[in-house]
Amino acid sequence: MARDHSRDSYDSHDVLLKKASQITKWIKQSKHVIVFTGPGINNNQDSPNSPLSGSPLLSSPQRLTKKEQAPMHATPTLTHMAIMKLVEEGKVRYVISQNTDGLHRKSGLSPSFLSELYGNSNIDNCTICGREYIRDSEVNLKQSVGQTTRRACTVCGGTLQESTVKRDEPFPLGRLKRGLEETEQADLCIVLGATLTDDIEYNIFVKIAQRGYKVVTCHKSTRLDGIAAVKVSAKPDHLMSAIMRQLSLEIPVWTLRRQIEFSQKEIPDQDSKTYQLEIRGSEQANVNISILESVEVQINDSSQRTEILTLDPFVLSNKGPITSEMFIKLNFKGTYLEPPLELTVQLNPEQSKVHVLDYNPIKKSWKRGEVVTNPLP
Ligand SMILES: [Zn+2]
Repeated sequence: MARDHSRDSYDSHDVLLKKASQITKWIKQSKHVIVFTGPGINNNQDSPNSPLSGSPLLSSPQRLTKKEQAPMHATPTLTHMAIMKLVEEGKVRYVISQNTDGLHRKSGLSPSFLSELYGNSNIDNCTICGREYIRDSEVNLKQSVGQTTRRACTVCGGTLQESTVKRDEPFPLGRLKRGLEETEQADLCIVLGATLTDDIEYNIFVKIAQRGYKVVTCHKSTRLDGIAAVKVSAKPDHLMSAIMRQLSLEIPVWTLRRQIEFSQKEIPDQDSKTYQLEIRGSEQANVNISILESVEVQINDSSQRTEILTLDPFVLSNKGPITSEMFIKLNFKGTYLEPPLELTVQLNPEQSKVHVLDYNPIKKSWKRGEVVTNPLP
């Protein structure tokens, strides 16, 4: 029978646990831990070659099948969520990433603890006021011209441009600056899923090692193997699961936040009092990206009027204000295979209500959050 050589390059379960416990000890002892991530932290949990497939180490239910992880709408992995938690707990001070997929931001990691060296393909920035817009999918739409994304800033009206750097463009040293400042203070650096072929990045870690501090790598092979205090040959998810367990920290489950805004306004310049109900779905306030395919509305008064709205923004005109309860069925575009959600909404004229919803893509279930009522301007 042929030997499975692909397994040879991974650490055994026992070796991985031993290395994880050494790294955990260093994390506890260190004052300024930084994490550097590369493409190897994505979709890293599904390798059939890993000796840890089916291991109790990975008993976390937070795993999506490959099919569920469409490349445009990838979800944060265990590694992203563990890093976010370690930053939240103050155990990791800073994260530098080569990745442009936006998954660190999606995990909930605050931008003040993160340098995305090559930008974030889910973010476009205002060229005038600098405000950033984080999107659910890539900003570089087919119709974008050069770096502008043909969107306008909702605050100042300025043109938005994508934040990623192309291969033929100069490396953005501005973004590296903060990362360099952090690495100068680092006494432990954990490199996950990055091979470090770029000299600028490589030299950061050489300097850390030259100062006598520890660099840990987790990847099959990297340029740092010669200077690494510990070299882990495992999937980053496996290493991070083991470290989090030893730190007695739970890896949070990632959920997707959606906001649905309902508003009702009288239409001016009409003889009869016509009101317009508008329903708008977004990923965050003021970001106007469509997430709904259609909306079914049933007005629970004597009319029992029922409409299916299929055009975004979803608008329903009505003679007079709708003051009675409405049954709403939201049909999503299904980027994350979200099932439809039913809500009961009651709205006064000239006010808006924002329903905050959280979706768990593993359980494929919605959780209704707070409802915020605002007067219309
Ligand atoms: Zn602006």
